[in-house]
Amino acid sequence: MAQPAWQDPAPLGIGTAPVPEYGSGSLADLLPTLVAGQGVAGFTPAIAELTPADRNCVFLIDGLGWEQIRSHPDEAPFLHSLLHTSRGGTGRPITAGFPATTATSLASVGTGLPPGEHGLPGYTVRNPETGALMNQLRWRPWSEPKVWQPYPTVFTLADAAGVRTAQVSAPAFEQTPLTKVALSGGSFLGRLTGEDRMDVAAERLAAGDRSLVYTYYSEVDGMGHRFGVDSDAWRGQLMHVDGLARRLAEQLPPRSALYITADHGMIDIPFDEQSRIDFDEDWELRAGVALLGGEGRARHVYAVPGAQADVLAVWREVLGEQFWVASRDEAVAAGWFGPRVDERVLGRIGDVVAAAHDDVVITASDNEPHESAMVGMHGSMTPVEQLVPLLEVRS
Ligand SMILES: [Zn+2]
Repeated sequence: MAQPAWQDPAPLGIGTAPVPEYGSGSLADLLPTLVAGQGVAGFTPAIAELTPADRNCVFLIDGLGWEQIRSHPDEAPFLHSLLHTSRGGTGRPITAGFPATTATSLASVGTGLPPGEHGLPGYTVRNPETGALMNQLRWRPWSEPKVWQPYPTVFTLADAAGVRTAQVSAPAFEQTPLTKVALSGGSFLGRLTGEDRMDVAAERLAAGDRSLVYTYYSEVDGMGHRFGVDSDAWRGQLMHVDGLARRLAEQLPPRSALYITADHGMIDIPFDEQSRIDFDEDWELRAGVALLGGEGRARHVYAVPGAQADVLAVWREVLGEQFWVASRDEAVAAGWFGPRVDERVLGRIGDVVAAAHDDVVITASDNEPHESAMVGMHGSMTPVEQLVPLLEVRS
C-alpha cells in the first residue's frame, strides 16, 4: 500500500538487511572446506557441493562481483561460461562478508573466520587501544599484527599438516602486515605480471601431492574505482583477467580444482548531492561524532562519550530510508559481522553502523579526498557488492 504523502516512510528495518551467509556460503568458508577435503585435521567442509581435490588453487580477482561477470559475457567469455555448469565443475555465488571491502575479505579468506573473529571489520576502524582510526588495508598507523589478528591462517595450518602451500601475488605485498595476518603460511612468491602469477601458481600446484595455492589480481578493482564499472578501462581489465583465468585453467595439473572468486563486487555512484552525502559539510550528521570510519557505503560512526543514542537517532532519521542504520549491539546481534564477535573486536565496530541500501555514499571531502572522488564503490550488503563468484574448474 502506498504511503500517504504527508507521512514519512519508515526507516529500513535492521532485519531487512541480507546478512552474509557465514558458515555455509561465505568467503570465510572457502579455505576450511578445501583443506577439510585434503584431510587437514580440525576443519569441516562448510560449503556443500564442493568435491574434494588433492590440489586446490584459489584465484581471487579484486572487485569482480558475480553480477559483473553475469552482465559481461562478451568481455569475459571464459568466466561467463563457468557461471553455471561446465568443464566438470560448478559455478555459484557466495557472499563476501560485511563490510564488502578488500582488507576484511582477504582476512576472511585467509583465516577462514568471519570479520567478528579475525577482527578486520572495515576499511578504517577505531583502535580501542589508541582511540585513533586505523586503515586496515595500509595498516596505518601501525599496530602489532599478531595482537590485532591472533589466529593462525588456514595456509599456516595446512602447511603444518603437510599440504604444499603458496601465495603468488605482487612482490610488494610480501612483507605487509595484511599479508602477515591474512595470507601467510608456506611460501610467498612475488611476480609482477598476471601471466607470471598464473604460470607460477600452476607450477606450485603441481609441486606437491597435496597442495594449496592462492593467487591474486588487483586491477579490475582499480579501474572500477577510478573510471567506473563498465568504463572502457574497466572492460579492458575484465578482458585481460578473463584471459588470465583461462591461462591458469589450461595449465592445471592432474587431480586439481581451481576456484575463481573475488573479495567484493562494485557499484557506480552518480556525482550529485543526493547520491554523495558529504559528512564533512553536514552539521547534522557530524553532531556528537568523534570519528568517522569505514568507507562510503559501510560507515563505522564513533560517538563522543554519552552521545551514542543521539547519533543513532539522527543518523536513522536523516539516512534511514537509504541506509540500514544500526547500533553496534543491533549490528552484532543481527550477525552482520558473523555469528560471534570477539571481545577484542567489539570496540573496533562503530557505535553506529550505516550500510547503504540505495546507490548512495557518505563521503568525507576533507578527510578522505581520494576515496570521496571515486566513481565505483563497495562495502555494503546489496547483492551487487556482496555476491562474489565461486567458479570451479577441475582437471
Ligand atoms: Zn576496492
